[in-house]
Parts: sequence; structure tokens; C-alpha cells
Amino acid sequence: MSEVRKFAEVKDQSGQTLIEFFGPGRSNDGLSVGLRMLTHQLLQVVPKSHRGIGFGGAYGYGVEFENEIFSMCPDAQDCTCAWDRRPPHKGKCKKQIDAWFRARKKIEEESKQKQKTDGSATEILGFWSFDLKAVTKWEKKNRYPKCICSARHWKHPEEHEPTCWLVRPRFLHKPSGFQVDWYKYIGRETKPNRQINGNDWCSMLEEILKSIKRPKLKTAIKAYQKAESAEQKACRETAKLAAAFWNIRAPG
Ligand SMILES: [Zn+2]
Ligand SMILES: [Zn+2]
Repeated sequence: MSEVRKFAEVKDQSGQTLIEFFGPGRSNDGLSVGLRMLTHQLLQVVPKSHRGIGFGGAYGYGVEFENEIFSMCPDAQDCTCAWDRRPPHKGKCKKQIDAWFRARKKIEEESKQKQKTDGSATEILGFWSFDLKAVTKWEKKNRYPKCICSARHWKHPEEHEPTCWLVRPRFLHKPSGFQVDWYKYIGRETKPNRQINGNDWCSMLEEILKSIKRPKLKTAIKAYQKAESAEQKACRETAKLAAAFWNIRAPG
């Protein structure tokens, strides 16, 4: 679930709003809170890990970690297996792959046109979105061609090592295969691979905390909430200073 949050606004002397600043918000659903709590705990287990900074907050980016129970990996939007250093596809292999991309582009364009005609899409700053569902459906039927020239160079999941950050699931509970992905930070388009009920999620988290020798879930959630509110207080202070500097009204 993603949401939009208002960060600040600029008012003129009469008090009329001139500009409003919006950014992606983060969701506080049970899945996202659990994953942020886990990030908070993992940062104590691996204090030197990669930390994201931004809208996601101090515990919103996940930590790269793996054991026999689970694995977690931030969404760095980057390849960590160096596909770009591999040679390009050649001959028949290149033809096949190029044809696949052309066909996919065609489906994208068709879905765009269809959405424009039936009014289901909206134009944002001159860009039309394509229908992701239609394209995904097409991709399921038309699998990306396997490389037959051992080149592997396109930026496509099949071309990466399974350990690459770009293609690894953001969160995976190994015994059950339950997986959660997010975009950039936890709480932004948090997507589980299947529905899960609260009890199952809690016992999964208990099992995970035990596997990294951390406190019980209740204690861990309390510790996370305490750390998060201290962090948010510090952020509000910084926002106030920045707002005073830019003469912007700080968000409440
Ligand atoms: Zn890669
Ligand atoms: Zn190839």
C-alpha cells in the first residue's frame, strides 16, 4: 500500500498557500511495522550494514542478512553481480532477445492506447502509464528467452545471479516461502507474495528473532517504537530548522 504525505507548504504574507510539498508516505500496516522492527533489531546485530536515508526513516530500508530461517535485502535499485561487465549477446541469441523486447514494447503501447480510449488511465505531466496487469499477463505467457550465447548482459532478472540485490526478494521466510517486496523503502508499495494472517506473521517474526538471538516480539516491537519516535522527534527538529531557513512552514 502506498500513500502520499504532505511534507511542507509555502505561504505568502496573507496566509494563502503558494506551494505544497508532497512525497511518498509510508504505510503503517502490520507487515511494514514488523519489517521495520526487524530492521531495527538487525542493525544491532550487524551495526555496520548499509543504511538508507530519506523518506523511509531510520529503520525503513532493511538490512542485508541471511540465515537458515530468513533473508532480507534492501532495495538499492542496483545490481550487485556486475551484469554490465559481461559481453553483449550475439547472433541468434541477440535476435531472439531483441524480438522479445520489441514484442513487450508493443504490448505496453497497446495497453496504453486502450487505457487512453476507455479512460482508465490518467495523464501525469505528459506521461501515460501502461497497464501493468496486461503486460505481466503477456510476460507470463511469453517467457524471456534463455541466453544461448552465454553472454548475459541485459538488465533483466533472468540475467542476474540469484544473490544479486536487484533480483533477491526483499524479505523471505524460508520455511514457508512467504515473501515481501517493497519499492525503495518498507511501507512503500509493500507487497507480500500471498495473504497472511496476523497470527502467522507474529509467529514468523518470533521464529526470526529467536534465530538471531534477539528479544521476544513484544519487547522488540516496544524497543523499535521507542527508537522510531526518538528518531522522528530528531527529524521534526531538523525540519523546523530547515523550514526556518527557507521560510517554509514545517509539517506538523
Ligand atoms: Zn545483478
Ligand atoms: Zn546470449
